[in-house]
Amino acid sequence: MNLVIVGHIDHGKSTLIGRLLFDTKSLPKEKLEEIEASCKALGKEMEFAYVVDALEEERKNEMTIDTTQTFFQTEKREYVIIDTPGHKEFIKNMITGSSYADVAILIVDVSEGMKEQTKRHAYILKLLGIGQVIVVINKMDKVNYEKGRFDKIKEEVLNFLETIGVTPLCVIPISAFKGDNVVTKSINMKWYDGKTLVKVLDELEEKKRREYYFRLPIQDVYEINGEKIAVGNIISGEVKRGDKVKIYPSDEDAAVLKILESNKEIEMVRYPKSVGIALDKQIKRGDILAKGERPVVVQKLEANIFCIDKIEEGQEYSFACVTQEVEAKVVEIKEKINPDTLERESGKSLGEGDVGRVVLEFQNPVVIEKFGNVVELGRFVLKKNAIIIAGGTIR
Ligand code: GDP
Repeated sequence: MNLVIVGHIDHGKSTLIGRLLFDTKSLPKEKLEEIEASCKALGKEMEFAYVVDALEEERKNEMTIDTTQTFFQTEKREYVIIDTPGHKEFIKNMITGSSYADVAILIVDVSEGMKEQTKRHAYILKLLGIGQVIVVINKMDKVNYEKGRFDKIKEEVLNFLETIGVTPLCVIPISAFKGDNVVTKSINMKWYDGKTLVKVLDELEEKKRREYYFRLPIQDVYEINGEKIAVGNIISGEVKRGDKVKIYPSDEDAAVLKILESNKEIEMVRYPKSVGIALDKQIKRGDILAKGERPVVVQKLEANIFCIDKIEEGQEYSFACVTQEVEAKVVEIKEKINPDTLERESGKSLGEGDVGRVVLEFQNPVVIEKFGNVVELGRFVLKKNAIIIAGGTIR
């Protein structure tokens, strides 16, 4: 199960990751030994704080990578934390990441309440359709584990989430630093009769990915022994040898002559495999091979976007969705949503961190799907000079 932890800076994301790893005994053995050794050298007991520092150090070394994946294991299953060092990386990863979050943990510092990034992140979770959200109110130790303080922030968070249409699974008072209600039930908050964070996670059902028609974005076409083989990752459905398929956006009919998996010929293949296919027609990178209900082919599109850099009306960008890459012009910025007030404003540009609705016009037709049908065809990025400056969803 993939999970993402979001929230305002300093509200305790890293500490919570450290706590999850430490208390579930999921730290790699070498890492533990390393920390133990350095504690010993300092003549100190092994402490949780060192774990967080060590993880932090590791992250710094990996800063060149946009995301790292951290794993922890409970009795029930293995979890992957899609760990993004900052706000920009979070947005980028959520849009382009191969790992799509099944569940999100929204962390809020009890002594600070909701802040700007808390709201923006919550809003993005909503736009991305991450329906399973767990709210943790952190640093309860700082307020003497008082129920009154928790209730106040809980209400504030629930009110905000309600206005954007997010219903969290639960709200848990925790101390990531001290370990209350993360893996171990807190003895400091007897007034809380709910579950620990890990218990809530473990009780979630693994969501089966929705079954949809066959979709294969073509990554490349190779010539092997004189035969053209189109390769790509299947993002939905299945295909058999002999199947009649369609090539989009051109709308051409084609037949599947051969299916290859790791150079072996096979009869049938399904999501989420990568595959090579020989067709009776020409196909190229960026085409989408499909069966069943037609995907949507558009020349113009209205979509939600979130910006990591400035977007201006009238400007051209490169639109990328799976293996498609097309020139796109932002013909209109319909609205800009202020995540603080949820007011809709108008304007000719969107800035870093802004959420908005835009109309895009493409130089060539683009194949898309509703986000709810096939996630990969329902999200896209806008680039300028090969750098991602915004992400979007089609709903
Ligand atoms: P991030 O920016 O969201 O990753 O936040 P960090 O995990 O780096 O935490 C920011 C600061 O808050 C650090 O100094 C942590 O030690 C502290 N902190 C995090 N969780 C707790 C907690 O539960 N209680 C207390 N008292 N401090 C915490």
